[in-house]
Amino acid sequence: MSQVAIVTGGTRGIGAAISTMLKDNGFTVAAIYAGNDERARRFNEETGISVYKWDVADYEACQAGCAQVAADLGPVDVLVNNAGITRDTTMHKMTHEMWQEVIDVNLGGCFNMSHAVFGGMRERKYGRIVNIGSINGQAGQYGQVNYAAAKSGIHGFTKALAQEGARANITVNAIAPGYIDTDMVSAVPEAVLEKIIAKIPVGRLGKAPEIARGVLFLVSKDAGFVTGSTLSINGGQHMY
Ligand code: NDP
Repeated sequence: MSQVAIVTGGTRGIGAAISTMLKDNGFTVAAIYAGNDERARRFNEETGISVYKWDVADYEACQAGCAQVAADLGPVDVLVNNAGITRDTTMHKMTHEMWQEVIDVNLGGCFNMSHAVFGGMRERKYGRIVNIGSINGQAGQYGQVNYAAAKSGIHGFTKALAQEGARANITVNAIAPGYIDTDMVSAVPEAVLEKIIAKIPVGRLGKAPEIARGVLFLVSKDAGFVTGSTLSINGGQHMY
């Protein structure tokens, strides 16, 4: 029987590439999105992947949504916490709302979703969780106090949960992407983007499938000795 994977933010950008790569490699995938019905509908039509709409920042919605996915597709073996948003501005202009929204979706979403599936994984003694962090959670970024804090938090979350899951054969890892060519990066002004690309040793933005390839490795059954780690996929932009 094929394994069931939930990919949050799985209908666009990096998440869409992850959903598709998992499906192409035999997983039954549920792609979660927040509000862009048109993109989700098109994604479903083009790939046949089931799409579900809920807000990962909403704890109750995550509980109900994950239960629905399990009822429709089967017990959840794999969770990819990929949903993320930005609300960029400098500290002195950042509102409390911009701070809270980014923390609630990017970091709170990881907790809400992991909490909804972790118990079942423990009972079945198997699970794979991959959290999508960011180069900007590792290195910081001007105008992204909220985003860098949330993404940095994901890296700590990953290492702590990895320790709790280890004996139950549940691995928890993170991927820290560099700049990837998606809608999120299209929102960056062109002049700023040129300066960013100039700092990437490989000389280009990354492509979403290059992140998906890393996810596919981390969720494979053979990767059971890899846990609590962060895989940086960033064209050499940040090494540590
Ligand atoms: P996109 O903006 O292209 O897509 C975001 C996806 O997340 C969409 O499917 C969106 O749904 C979904 N989403 C957003 N908020 C919520 C929510 N509250 N509940 C459920 N789903 C939600 O993002 P990217 O593909 O660029 O980024 C994916 C991840 O990778 C993010 O975590 C991002 O921070 C991280 N990342 C991206 C980098 C990049 O260069 N692009 C670099 C480093 C990290 P909908 O379509 O309904 O809006």
